[in-house]
Amino acid sequence: MYDVIIVGGGGAGLMLARELSNKKHKVLILDQKKDLLDFSFYTLASFMKLEDFNLTNNVVANKIDEVCIQSKRLASKVKSNLYTLDKKKLHEELLNSLDSEYVSFKLGVQIKKIVKENNSFTSVTDKNGNSYSAKIFVDATGTNAVLSKKVGLREKQYQLATGVEYNVKYLGNTNQIYLLLGSTYKGGYGWIFPLKNGRGIIGFGTIDDSLKKGLKERLHKILALPNIKKLVEKDNDKVEGGSIPITPVLEEFVLDNLVCVGDSVSQVNPIAGEGYKFIFESAILASKAIDKALKNENLSELKTYEDKWKDRFSSNYKRSKIAQERLNKFSKSDLLIDGGILLFKLRSNQKNLASLSGEY
Ligand SMILES: Cc1cc2nc3c(=O)[nH]c(=O)nc-3n(C[C@H](O)[C@H](O)[C@H](O)COP(=O)(O)OP(=O)(O)OC[C@H]3O[C@@H](n4cnc5c(N)ncnc54)[C@H](O)[C@@H]3O)c2cc1C
Repeated sequence: MYDVIIVGGGGAGLMLARELSNKKHKVLILDQKKDLLDFSFYTLASFMKLEDFNLTNNVVANKIDEVCIQSKRLASKVKSNLYTLDKKKLHEELLNSLDSEYVSFKLGVQIKKIVKENNSFTSVTDKNGNSYSAKIFVDATGTNAVLSKKVGLREKQYQLATGVEYNVKYLGNTNQIYLLLGSTYKGGYGWIFPLKNGRGIIGFGTIDDSLKKGLKERLHKILALPNIKKLVEKDNDKVEGGSIPITPVLEEFVLDNLVCVGDSVSQVNPIAGEGYKFIFESAILASKAIDKALKNENLSELKTYEDKWKDRFSSNYKRSKIAQERLNKFSKSDLLIDGGILLFKLRSNQKNLASLSGEY
């Protein structure tokens, strides 16, 4: 019998496991992957302060001090301290920080079901019919949202933002990230993140379902634009990418002894598209509630996670969601996007940074 079973060993699951193992709770991580360092993309941009999450500089791919928001005609620069992160190193560091006395893994296990008896969940079952029991269960399965969908904490069908990326030669300013907006991107948006050693990431993403089939082709068109050619050079065909959930802001993450964290309950910030900072903070909030519930043998303590999350994030996320919807609407029109960029030019750096980082 484990104290906690975490289904999903991504960023949310690993951060939660680290916090729980620090508090000496017995944790089992179940993941369908055989290798937790095998990803569909390898680079992140983040406004997080590494020290807030006890992470070292080893996870940094590059330090950034400026975000350039660029349309066909205009650009506005926002000064900021942020990073591009090496996702593999970040997850490696989290894995290495886990206390093996308290954390066990079972990999290559695809969870399909959660079983309830007398008002509490008693086990999860994998696709081969094996069951795993614990006092508390956590859904950290990302956009699969396997358990949160099953128990109705989120809807079964929901919109996703999908993106594709290439790791390319980078010829531009290594301290600057680019966000590319306007009609050139036809209802989507582009990004360029500098990495180390003359490399970078260029990506294109959208929430518009009609564009999702042609994402790679659109990225090729972006790569051929003269201003982009000056910045990046594609030298390989390996496409990376994935999806993030675009749902209304959710506020219920707990049902009886099931707790949900990360993309499984849409905790990625709607405007920044940044998951890690927000998901790590949410996992830490969840760990505090789980710790209390286990210590006091009182599962109703789990609900305090929702209360704390709402205090910290609810109004931010609601405003970010409105900004995301506006951005999506405006992004097809150069005029409206240029209006937005002009507004950014007029406002203080501090205000722009708050909007951009999703910390309204
Ligand atoms: C293209 C793209 C670019 C992004 N860029 C950034 C960025 O620059 N900065 C940033 O902060 N965020 C970024 N994000 C968002 C960020 O990656 C996510 O918010 C974050 O990965 C979510 O973490 P998670 O742990 O909730 O889910 P995941 O990382 O998806 O982990 C879920 C885990 O659950 C496992 N799993 C799933 N289903 C099952 C099952 N049935 N049984 C067992 N295991 C299961 C999976 O194998 C996986 O290991 C980006 C996302 C995408 C798609």
